[in-house]
Amino acid sequence: MADVYTMGVDLGSTASKCIILKNGTETVGSAVIPSGAGTSGPERALAAALASAGLTRSDIAAVTATGYGRESLDGADWSVSELSCHALGAARECPGVMTVIDIGGQDAKVLTLSAEGRLENFIMNDKCAAGTGRFLDVMARVLETEADKLEALDAAAEGIVPISSTCTVFAESEVISQLSRRAPIPDIVAGIHRSVAVRTASLARRAGVHEPVLMTGGVARNGGVVRALERELGVSIGVPPAPQLCGALGAAIYGWNKLNKNKS
Ligand code: ADP
Repeated sequence: MADVYTMGVDLGSTASKCIILKNGTETVGSAVIPSGAGTSGPERALAAALASAGLTRSDIAAVTATGYGRESLDGADWSVSELSCHALGAARECPGVMTVIDIGGQDAKVLTLSAEGRLENFIMNDKCAAGTGRFLDVMARVLETEADKLEALDAAAEGIVPISSTCTVFAESEVISQLSRRAPIPDIVAGIHRSVAVRTASLARRAGVHEPVLMTGGVARNGGVVRALERELGVSIGVPPAPQLCGALGAAIYGWNKLNKNKS
């Protein structure tokens, strides 16, 4: 039987993610482009994922779009909510997972799953930048570094500078004032991570935290946030090898499931 390729595209506010699955299981191509919906990011992510798989668009049996900008993708066969896709992707990455904490560029969500991997409940913060990737991106800029350097800085911390404000704008002023007092940058970064962890933990507690817990989304690539959240929640948190691609993975699985349902 010929191989069947399904593509999942996750059009986030900050990044465009694309994954190609062979026969619903094997990842043969993927791409993460740090430009979100409404930019050239989605088309670039598609092209890069196809190139990494050595395929062309005509090889793809079904394209499923998810994420904040999912309705804007031309030629998608299905458009599915990111909650469903995150649940599908997380259950594939970690069978039996009960709680999924996803922190993206502009929102944070906590999903609870049934033992069969079905979405049971979710809670979301999409109203405020604090506790999202945006908060970390803003703080990285003030510290004259990049978001992907924060983990290494945190690892060098010898203390934690408390960042008490829950508002991104006021927290930014706090960081500037700590810098002018010559507080060590690693300790400031540890304080920034703790501030994200405190906000996320309160969101997670409202949804209910049951192990195993998985963290997904671009911010899960920052191990400093993951460890701060483990300390806040008192649980251990797993991170899949490509946490930012979890929604796109779920979308590709959704497409595969639909094709097979349509056949039967
Ligand atoms: P969205 O789906 O909302 O676009 P993503 O889940 O793609 O969001 O996450 C985007 C966020 O992930 C950005 O705020 C970015 O700073 C952060 N991010 C991406 N890669 C890394 C990395 N290597 N280290 C730390 N943060 C990262």
